[in-house]
Amino acid sequence: MTIRVADELLMFLPAARRERVSRVPSDGTSTLGHLVESLGVPLPEAGPMTVGGEPAGPSTRPDAGAEVRVAAVPRPQPVPLEPGQVAPRFVLDVHLGTLSRRMRLVGLDTAYHNDMDDPALVVQANEERRVLLTQDRGLLRRRALWFGAYVRGSRPDDQLRDVLDRFAPVLRPWTRCTACNGELVPVDKREIERDLEAGTRRSYDVYGRCAGCGQVYWRGAHGGHLEKIVHEATRLVEAATVAK
Ligand SMILES: [Zn+2]
Repeated sequence: MTIRVADELLMFLPAARRERVSRVPSDGTSTLGHLVESLGVPLPEAGPMTVGGEPAGPSTRPDAGAEVRVAAVPRPQPVPLEPGQVAPRFVLDVHLGTLSRRMRLVGLDTAYHNDMDDPALVVQANEERRVLLTQDRGLLRRRALWFGAYVRGSRPDDQLRDVLDRFAPVLRPWTRCTACNGELVPVDKREIERDLEAGTRRSYDVYGRCAGCGQVYWRGAHGGHLEKIVHEATRLVEAATVAK
């Protein structure tokens, strides 16, 4: 049997066997899902698949001589949403702390704990219908997981770009606490003025207080860097949405 994988998926194959077309010994009893994963590609990363040119699902059992093709997931990738839900919710594994703060900055509902083990992550993803983002391929192979995605890139900038390009989610910048993911409620500057240092009071504008942890957020000198992240994120989602 031969399996041809899309270029975007080659990164999952072991370096020594990173070829577009792999010859795979098969007795005709293995499922397509199993064969694809045995190449190294986590199933949540596999897009539409065909056997002999015909669309096929992971439970298909291709013949020993079959020609299989595996595409990458479509971008933007649709995520099932509940009524009233405007953007996917996410949960991130323990290594993606910086990414989680950036996703919250642009208003994405992003759960993150720095001490959550793999089974707990899968439980939270399934119970709260959150897309699990990770760079751990083993985690993406867990059968029970309802929706997972591998995050490309080692720098948080690249990782955010990848997530936005993949899901093109509706953004609501400056509406979420970057520390705890709580929603921000508007707050009058006069209300909290007394708690601010004089320098802060002069040069910052308050824009919200976290309903969860009480943290107050303001925009000012420090905002430059964050404004840039938000601006780029908005532009990227617009581009990804147009591409749809
Ligand atoms: Zn908070």
